[in-house]
Amino acid sequence: MLKKLTFFAALSTAMFADVSVTTTIFPLYDVVKNIGGDKVKLTNLVPFGVEAHEFEPKAKDIANLSKSDFFIISSPVFEPWSKKVISSLKIQDKTIDMSQKVKLLDMKHDEHEAHGHEHKGSYDPHYWLSIDNYISVAKEVATLLSSKDAENAKVYEANLEAYLAKLQALKTDYEVLKSCKNKKVIVNHDAFEYLAHEYGITQYSISGMTPETKPSPKQIAKLIDITKNEKINTVFFEEFASDKVAKSIAKEANVKTDALRPVENITVAESKKGIGYIDIMKDNLVKLRGAMDCE
Ligand SMILES: [Zn+2]
Repeated sequence: MLKKLTFFAALSTAMFADVSVTTTIFPLYDVVKNIGGDKVKLTNLVPFGVEAHEFEPKAKDIANLSKSDFFIISSPVFEPWSKKVISSLKIQDKTIDMSQKVKLLDMKHDEHEAHGHEHKGSYDPHYWLSIDNYISVAKEVATLLSSKDAENAKVYEANLEAYLAKLQALKTDYEVLKSCKNKKVIVNHDAFEYLAHEYGITQYSISGMTPETKPSPKQIAKLIDITKNEKINTVFFEEFASDKVAKSIAKEANVKTDALRPVENITVAESKKGIGYIDIMKDNLVKLRGAMDCE
């Protein structure tokens, strides 16, 4: 009986959801999930458990996409494949580029030089790591859902209020970073500049703007020097990319390693537990406090 009920509950959500939304990456998926709840049929393109930068959609993803009421992308820089897909499906009208709704930071100078002709845009695409930007995204999503489904506008508004209260509390927790004595971090890739910018942290990265770029021996030697000279106690790796270089830098400098998460994705197991942006940001805060000698 219970099985039957669950089946019908699942069926009714899928069949009678009022709005269908496709997102590209986890931070967008999570915000729509929180605000849309069971009123929204939500699909995320990047599967759980994979590294998000390298993703490209398959034919099946594109076929499903044409059925969605809205397609929310994080940016044409993070999703360089999106432009072609949007124009071939002619879904410009229902596509929302969230990067246009937030405050963007310019890409760091050495990134321009490192990538040379390859660089795809002049701004840093990791804007969801600014809690203020994430708040803007949440508000935008609520407006969007209400525009399509006015009948449930009150539901979306209430969900937004509840979610904003949690994000504000998270922001208050993060204020502690202003008290840290050694505001320098070594991370796997340059995902944390928005956070660094807000709290006056200097970010050094192993692989630049994308997680899998391999640093040269010269760059690695420089990072070992920085770790020693700046008295950095932790070299951060991230879970969906190799931790090899981080571990060798840490070994050479005689410090520890730990994971710091760019909130670009979660694992399949985490998705089953309902782990969200706020949970990961809280974990990150614990790690950062330990690494930067905070109160
Ligand atoms: Zn990234």
